[in-house]
Amino acid sequence: MINEKHKTAAYKIIPSQGGNRYSFFCELSGMLVCTSGTYYADNPEKELFTAWESEGKNNFNVCHRCGRWVDSVVYNPDVLMCVDCAPLEEEAKYCKHCGARAKNGDIVCSVCEKKLLYGGAGENGEI
Ligand SMILES: [Zn+2]
Ligand SMILES: [Zn+2]
Repeated sequence: MINEKHKTAAYKIIPSQGGNRYSFFCELSGMLVCTSGTYYADNPEKELFTAWESEGKNNFNVCHRCGRWVDSVVYNPDVLMCVDCAPLEEEAKYCKHCGARAKNGDIVCSVCEKKLLYGGAGENGEI
């Protein structure tokens, strides 16, 4: 059920000489992932798509469930889904909050001290 709207990640246009540059953002964390070079086409959709296909896309993973384009930090490669759809319950490789790499078995992020485990909405609901 990939939503047709998610043809590219979230983006922002940066007007530039002779065309536009495109900044692409992770649709889950909202983090800036990359900014393209300058592109110009006679219609905006084509221009965006060219920038996306030739540069943006390479830096993203698509969630096979919700169809969002996300950064690898919030992507669960074992199941090809974003961590929103497929939480990394067993062991966290990255901190969802600050993106720091986690050591095997860490329960709390050593950088921001937030919980690394994503599982079941829970008892300890505080994040
Ligand atoms: Zn997802
Ligand atoms: Zn952290």
